[in-house]
Amino acid sequence: MSDINPSPEIDSAPEGEKPARHFRSLKDLLDFASGKDLAKSMEQMGDAGIAEPLPFPFLALVGQGEMKLALMLGLINPNIGGILLVGPRGTGKTTAVRSLLDLLPQADRSTCYYGCLPEDIETGGIDAVCPDCAKKYAEGQPLTAPDRVRLVELPLNARLEDVVGGIDERAAVHERMRIRRGILAQADKNLLYIDEINLLSDDIIDAILDAAAQGIYTVRRGPVSATYRARFVLIGSMNPEEGNLRPQILDRFGLRIVVRGLENANERLEAYRRVKAYLTNPRALINLYADEIGDAAAELQEARKRLPKVTLPDALARQAIELIQKMGIDSLRAEITWFESARAYAAADGRDTVSVSDLSTVAPMALRLRRSVFINEYFERQKSEEDELISLLAALDGSKKQKS
Ligand SMILES: [Zn+2]
Repeated sequence: MSDINPSPEIDSAPEGEKPARHFRSLKDLLDFASGKDLAKSMEQMGDAGIAEPLPFPFLALVGQGEMKLALMLGLINPNIGGILLVGPRGTGKTTAVRSLLDLLPQADRSTCYYGCLPEDIETGGIDAVCPDCAKKYAEGQPLTAPDRVRLVELPLNARLEDVVGGIDERAAVHERMRIRRGILAQADKNLLYIDEINLLSDDIIDAILDAAAQGIYTVRRGPVSATYRARFVLIGSMNPEEGNLRPQILDRFGLRIVVRGLENANERLEAYRRVKAYLTNPRALINLYADEIGDAAAELQEARKRLPKVTLPDALARQAIELIQKMGIDSLRAEITWFESARAYAAADGRDTVSVSDLSTVAPMALRLRRSVFINEYFERQKSEEDELISLLAALDGSKKQKS
């Protein structure tokens, strides 16, 4: 055994940058930022009169711990299968999603207008990319560059053609390039946010959910077709008062967060103070949280790096699956989401092995709203039908025996 035990507290931050401060866990960090006292700092804030859109700082959101945690887990592990925020208006769903801008990690992204990727060549050969990228690839030049993960918002009036892509008027000779990239392709390796997801038309929502599940999708327009990567974290929000979400759609979201208004009067007052501070001078409020936001972003990036190493012991996984079965949940997505979010949580905590407490922390978000009344009734009907069939067959068999 080696005596060298490199402390996880030491960061190899590039020169000039201060190393990230470490909180014991993501939850600590969220609690710390939530509890930050604005009262004194606010006295120095004048009215800056800035009209530019600056997102509200994520860490300044009061309460809503589960929503904040779910969004952070989504940034750490895109395989959690999307996040659905369900709640009435004015509970900060959209504000929370937009405020993620401060925390978004880095990812490698295509530098080409057509979104060509080296993976395209690996799977589809050199013809799978545009002539410019084929040339670059042959010369050993990179087709991607590190870039910040982005937040892509789907406009409510988007047409199917905008979502999946359509014929490009500036079409080149190259077949693949005749199709303009749609929002789904642009969302590759990004976050895709859909507000009021329950108001989208079925064909659009199906296209989005299929692409989200496969990580890839194909568009056909007459004789032309093109395949795009669409590996994004889907975040949807909805107000249940404005129409329900089909159960099949609900099932396809990994984490489900029920967002309620703040119940505690002190929290409401603090939320009011922060919103007021933000409206008066957004930059001052953002500066107030800048240190913690920097720390949180660095922690998220580290957790992303650690994630591939994080494992879930088999014995624990079996116990968890037993629990899912006891709850009468059929969808396999339940355990995928549950295990992947527990892995993300362990990674955020700086550990390589998932523990029982990781599983229990994320269980409610991964498992709630999964039991389907319809499916239960369906199976009951099915079972009584089969019982009837079996007894009829038995009777038939019995009468045959009598005759012979
Ligand atoms: Zn290209």
